[in-house]
Parts: sequence; structure tokens; C-alpha cells
Amino acid sequence: MIIVMNHDANQQEIDHVVTRLRQVGFNINLSEGVERTIIGAVGECAKLNDVAIAAMAGVEKVLPITRPYKMVSREFKDEDTVVKIGDIEIGGGDLQVMAGPCAVESREQLLTVAKQVKSAGAAILRGGAFKPRTSPYSFQGLEEEGLKFLAEAREITGLPIVTEVVDASTLPLLCKYADILQVGARNMQNFFLLREVAKTDKPVLLKRSPAATVEEWLMAAEYLLAGGNPNVMLCERGIKSFDTYTRNTLDLTAVPVVKHLSHLPVVVDPSHAIGNWRFVQTMSRAAVAAGADALIIEVHPNPAEALCDGPQSLTPKKFDRVMRDLQVITAALKNGLNSK
Ligand code: PEP
Ligand code: MN
Repeated sequence: MIIVMNHDANQQEIDHVVTRLRQVGFNINLSEGVERTIIGAVGECAKLNDVAIAAMAGVEKVLPITRPYKMVSREFKDEDTVVKIGDIEIGGGDLQVMAGPCAVESREQLLTVAKQVKSAGAAILRGGAFKPRTSPYSFQGLEEEGLKFLAEAREITGLPIVTEVVDASTLPLLCKYADILQVGARNMQNFFLLREVAKTDKPVLLKRSPAATVEEWLMAAEYLLAGGNPNVMLCERGIKSFDTYTRNTLDLTAVPVVKHLSHLPVVVDPSHAIGNWRFVQTMSRAAVAAGADALIIEVHPNPAEALCDGPQSLTPKKFDRVMRDLQVITAALKNGLNSK
């Protein structure tokens, strides 16, 4: 529920309401606006009668949260969440790009591409060390050795790293190296993993399952927030449709829809959605125009020899072109807004 305080409610009255709610087990999110304070509270509403919040000093009204997801919803928290990774902000108004290979394949491959994506303007380095593959015979990742190469690449380039956590048993290892934990599309509804990830202090990139509705995706994010981790980014990476020409169908409608329903930042992954490098530039433009806060793009020094997802990987040269193109798009969007 949402507790709207009177515009002249004092700090003591606000504290009093918050304390009472916490006493009966509610999770609290405080939004202190210029006009008034709004208190978001998630818990068992049956206990509300005992508390009689509406009658407390300084309370203007109590509103129920109507959505099945609570902490993730705009009803609970109206202002955009900005996820901070060092001094990089996701959701703060500036487009950020995460880039790198699908999988860490070798020290040389990773360090080469890390320097290349950095010089093209990427803010975050991606690379999988544990690879969940459709076939058990495909390359499964370098595991801890791969994480060490990622840490070395961060040391050299200064780029923070995003890498996938595939299960709870490897989570402590991932936390030792990663700046952002990626929960992959296949694990979006692995609720036991989500509960463990929620206990960490790492920002999370939560990919949408190819078969998940927007509501199921937001409910998965709710596990993370309800479990104590507010630093969640939602990543649209393509859903299944009847058309098999592209690997998946990039659901760009999800960007404005999710930003309307939730305060969490939205990241778009055109590489996994399309599965073909040719269309990555165009759909990156479209994602930014649709309101994405960040993109995650696969780049490989030599896609023809990639051990994983070569057909969708950009060469560093093509990635550089995409980055220059995106500067034009973001400037045009900013100019458009300023001229209104
Ligand atoms: C990836 O980012 O390398 C990946 C496996 O993505 P997804 O979980 O979206 O398939
Ligand atoms: Mn991949």
C-alpha cells in the first residue's frame, strides 16, 4: 500500500508511521518529495486494521497497490531507479553501452576486445565465464579462469564487468569478480537463485525469458527487490514468436510498457534478440528511440571463429560505427526534447 502524508506532516509524524509499519513486518520505501512524503509499504494488509495507519497524525490517505508486483511498481516508487556501478549510472538519463564477447575464450581474445570496446566508448565490459548452452556438447565457458581474465581486463581498461551467474553454488565465486551479476533468460524464473542473488550487494541484470510475459518478468524482479536488492536492471533480449527468421523477436514494446509500470531501468540486448549482426545497428537505434537506458551488445575480435554466438557478434570496427551512430540518435532525442 501507499501512504500519502499531508503536505505539512512533520518528520516525527513520518517516523512514527514508518516505525509502526516496520513493527508489523512491512518493507518500506520512502519517497520524500518537495510537496509531500509518500511511504510505500509491502506486507500483509490483514495486519493493517490493527495498525490503523489512516488514523495516524500526518496521514492524508492510504491507497492499496493494485498490481501483483509491489516494490517493482511505479505505484510503490514513482521516481526512476538509477543503478550505480562506480560512477556509471544506468537509468540516470545518459545512454550506457555494455559490450564484449558472448564468452570469454582466452586471455588474448578478451584483452583485445576489451581495449577495442573501451576505445569505441563502451562503459561496461560483458563476457560469459559460465555459459548455459542449448547443447551439452557446446563450449561451456572457462569458468574461474574466465573470471580472472575479466578481472584483468577491468584492471587494464577500467571497465566494470557484467557476467552471468548460472546457479547458487557458484554465486560466491561470481561475487568475488563481477561488478554486475547477469541472471540469464533461462534462469529468469529460477526463484531459488533469485533469492540468493537478492542477498548480495551486486547490481543485477535480469534478462527476460523468451517465453515470459511482462508481468512474469516483473514478478521475477520482485523476488530480487523483496529479497533486499534494489539495484535491478530489466533486460529485454527477445521473445519467441511464430517467425523463425530471426533468432527471437525483439519486443521493443516492452520498453515503454515496462517503464510505465516500473521504476527500474531497462536494458536492451539486440544481439540475442536478432541473432544476426546485420540488424544489430538498426535495432540498437530503435531501442534507444524507444527509451532504453542501456544496451548490451556482443562484440568479438573475429566473429567467424567465435566459440559462441559468432553470427550475432559485431566486429570491433562495426561496433565502433554503431557507437558513433548512437551518438547521433541520443543527440537528436535530446534536441527534440529541448525544442518542445
Ligand atoms: C548471454 O548474454 O550471453 C546470454 C546467454 O543471454 P540470454 O540469457 O539472454 O540468452
Ligand atoms: Mn551470447
